[in-house]
Amino acid sequence: MTTTPTRPTSNAFSAEAQAWQNFVDGAFVPAQSNLIDVTNPANGVLLGRIPESSRTEVDAAVQAARAAQADWEKLPAIRRADYLRQISAKLRQHRLELADVIVKEQGKVRGLAEVEVDFTADYIDYMAEWARRLEGEVLTSDRPNETMLLLRKPVGVVAGILPWNFPFFLIARKMAPALVTGNTIVIKPSEETPLNAYLFARLVAETDLPKGVFNLVGGRGRTVGEALASHPGVDLITFTGSVATGSHIMQLAGKNLTRVNLELGGKAPAIVLKDADLDLAAKAIWDSRVINTGQVCNCAERVYVEREVHDALVEKLVTHFEATRYGDPSVESDLHMGPLVNRAGLDKVAAAVETAKAQGATVVTGGAIADMGQGFHYKPTLLVNARADMDIMRRETFGPVLPIQAVDSLDEAIALANDSDYGLTSSIYTRDLNSALKAARELKFGETYINRENFEAMQGFHAGRRKSGIGGADGKHGLYEFTETHVVYIQG
Ligand code: NAD
Repeated sequence: MTTTPTRPTSNAFSAEAQAWQNFVDGAFVPAQSNLIDVTNPANGVLLGRIPESSRTEVDAAVQAARAAQADWEKLPAIRRADYLRQISAKLRQHRLELADVIVKEQGKVRGLAEVEVDFTADYIDYMAEWARRLEGEVLTSDRPNETMLLLRKPVGVVAGILPWNFPFFLIARKMAPALVTGNTIVIKPSEETPLNAYLFARLVAETDLPKGVFNLVGGRGRTVGEALASHPGVDLITFTGSVATGSHIMQLAGKNLTRVNLELGGKAPAIVLKDADLDLAAKAIWDSRVINTGQVCNCAERVYVEREVHDALVEKLVTHFEATRYGDPSVESDLHMGPLVNRAGLDKVAAAVETAKAQGATVVTGGAIADMGQGFHYKPTLLVNARADMDIMRRETFGPVLPIQAVDSLDEAIALANDSDYGLTSSIYTRDLNSALKAARELKFGETYINRENFEAMQGFHAGRRKSGIGGADGKHGLYEFTETHVVYIQG
């Protein structure tokens, strides 16, 4: 098997059924092993193949990132930002082709896929803006004639392990803060949705980014993911995905005491009080439940509504849920939802609803697989009579299913919301400032949205409590996760 690196040709900008190559040390490298098929979850069409890489290929990528890091760190941050802006410009030039690949391999609706690409380009620019704002501190010494400096330095080589639900944006969420702060990176995309990452690499290859600064290695979690998580040459593992995988990665990283940044699952509560604007609440909760077919970590996953307005809210939600348009986003535009990402995702959602019914919940609308001849579609589903002890109120569903529980007070709603393994996002709908402030004080979550749908901003800080993660992403606090401190004592 040949291993001669090849430069990409710029006219081959298509993901269709190609065999893609890893991007290591500034070049595309022929796969040394088997290939993984990537198919469209809406219709089963084969879209492309990626390498099922081995530990040897991971080693080569980590070594390339290590070799490039020292010179990359020495560049002024503003020069590093220039390279990032070259990448964001490329993304904008190719936004429609990129969105098309996301639509096909993830089943995302076209409008949201375009938002994802645009947001990704903006995110890279936002992180590039930090170049002139990276700051250390001057500390006060206890000794005469002494100056103390706290410097912020890159951690070194970062490994980014990605999920499939916002696959393109997650590349930037890992890469942009890593690179602007002077780190180099190895990215492992999800094997469900890797093609957009290979297109990303192709565009990176068309920029002047020095070789080895950005590397892409495809493959399975059990091989590539574990090789990265246990690699002594990796200084920080930044992972987004499930709690089970995050916990496993942390154990592997523990052997080398490698730092971890974990963005994991969620079970976001939405609290609706009797004084809420119910039209606003129903629309925002529906938006937050059907976006990306319910496959979003910060989606509204459970509702606590004051008993007096329970029926009125349910009626409004039913209207929205029954008006939800779903289908194959690669052939239909103007959809709210596509399919679930794969058969396992569909089976998991269907099983969750069956368990909820067996435990006493009542289906108001939906409650079944949508038979469309092909694709992994589940009907938008509302459940009432949910109780705190039901699995549907405790486990992440990751599909278009919303259980609703009636409560008697804000205190009860907050207590139920906090009684969860997850602590990523939460929301409350009320017109009363005191209630909103009480919720902000007492909800134990990384984010709370008041009278709006759940969707974070790039200048915020997306960080989960409890099993939703360790550390966070975005904004100044997310940026500094990619640095470590170095205190210097200067006498004289
Ligand atoms: P996943 O954990 O199955 O996979 C994520 C990545 O980990 C993939 O690249 C996979 O190949 C890799 N992986 C799998 N097993 C591994 C192992 N043993 N060692 C190392 N790597 C391994 O998650 P997913 O199904 O791709 O994503 C869905 C999950 O991600 C949901 O729980 C969702 O809530 C979460 N998520 C969280 C956020 C957030 O910001 N908190 C954002 C998006 C998704």
